[in-house]
Amino acid sequence: MTPAEIERNVKNIRAEIARAAGEAGRDPDEILLAAATKTNGAEAVRAAVKAGVDICGENRVQEMLEKNELGAYDGVPLHFIGHLQKNKVRQVVGLCALIHSADSLPLLQEISRIAEKRGLVQDVLLEINIGNEASKSGFRPEELESVLEEAARFPALRVRGLMAIPPICAKPEDNRPFFLQMQKLFVDNRQKKYDNIRMDFLSMGMSGDFAEAVRCGANLVRIGSGIFGPRNTTTT
Ligand SMILES: *Cc1c(COP(=O)(O)O)cnc(C)c1O
Repeated sequence: MTPAEIERNVKNIRAEIARAAGEAGRDPDEILLAAATKTNGAEAVRAAVKAGVDICGENRVQEMLEKNELGAYDGVPLHFIGHLQKNKVRQVVGLCALIHSADSLPLLQEISRIAEKRGLVQDVLLEINIGNEASKSGFRPEELESVLEEAARFPALRVRGLMAIPPICAKPEDNRPFFLQMQKLFVDNRQKKYDNIRMDFLSMGMSGDFAEAVRCGANLVRIGSGIFGPRNTTTT
């Protein structure tokens, strides 16, 4: 994709987000657009930033560090959206404004431990395995209450909301039940009494289904191929 094509894609996605938000009676300005930048080079990422995405989200630590060296994300916050291994936490804490993919208690504990050492507080989202898929990581919906209670005890971590990747579906509408279930979890846990838990972000919706996600309450969508074109699947 050329920078001009990337710019056009971002514009079209913004328009579609605005339309979906309108249909749901929501303000489009409250919906953040994250470019899912995996496998795309620094030039393409810079073009997306220039085109006005709100956030860059990366999946792989090494790839992220390399592009960060090149200044690819300059101008927008950097988020981590991929599965994070405990032994890579130190490379992500502090560099990423938000980790979308906190998917186990040991990982939460490690994030807090590293953040505390560095004298900072790391924002995270709890990843929910909304389709109860064996192949996906994340907390089970019914575990969320107890996970929030546990998370409240980690001093250098702040839960800012929830994230989900629903099962692969033939049509975007097929994901609606999962998105609605996520919205319910998000809203039900909004009034939690813990100091370090604030349900600000509901991160769901990708290239194929972001409009549906927005209609179901998402306020942060993560879009890769819709911005950058199809990925070389051997590298993802
Ligand atoms: C790749 C990726 C996306 C974007 O996927 P597309 O279908 O290319 O839009 C969103 N979220 C996560 C966690 C991803 O890994």
